[in-house]
Amino acid sequence: MPNQNGTGPRWMHGQIKCCGYRMTKPREAILDVLANTQNHLSAEDIYMAVHKFYPNIGLTTVYRNLEVLVNIGMVVKFEFGEGKSKYELSDEYSSKGHHHHLVCKECYTVIDYSDFMKDEVSFLKSTENGLSEKYKFNITDHLIQFFGVCEKCTNK
Ligand SMILES: [Zn+2]
Ligand SMILES: [Zn+2]
Ligand SMILES: [Zn+2]
Repeated sequence: MPNQNGTGPRWMHGQIKCCGYRMTKPREAILDVLANTQNHLSAEDIYMAVHKFYPNIGLTTVYRNLEVLVNIGMVVKFEFGEGKSKYELSDEYSSKGHHHHLVCKECYTVIDYSDFMKDEVSFLKSTENGLSEKYKFNITDHLIQFFGVCEKCTNK
């Protein structure tokens, strides 16, 4: 969580990529919360965590700043089918790094994995190369999510 000054030093040093955006307290607080969890959080989850340290930051402020952080690529927004968006730091800023998702459609548990299957990486690489060629499209990233039922829900 925030250090004594209430700021996470890792967000300083002009880490905001797009011109015109400054690193502000609410943005730092949101990034700190996301950096300190392994979970995918909703705006309400983030608000509750931020609120403990900054009682004057409201839910609307959290929503507004989340949108900014998503737009500049520091945070990724997901819809897991739960009816509310979930957020996590983008690969570049996350300690998790690049990973794929297994999403349970019953309990909405999300398993992050980066220990990819043996052929997974080469399959994706050749798919990306083929698509790039076919559509004259320069692929720079991908989001992989598999939906299904987790072990716990299967055994219920
Ligand atoms: Zn991948
Ligand atoms: Zn489940
Ligand atoms: Zn994830």
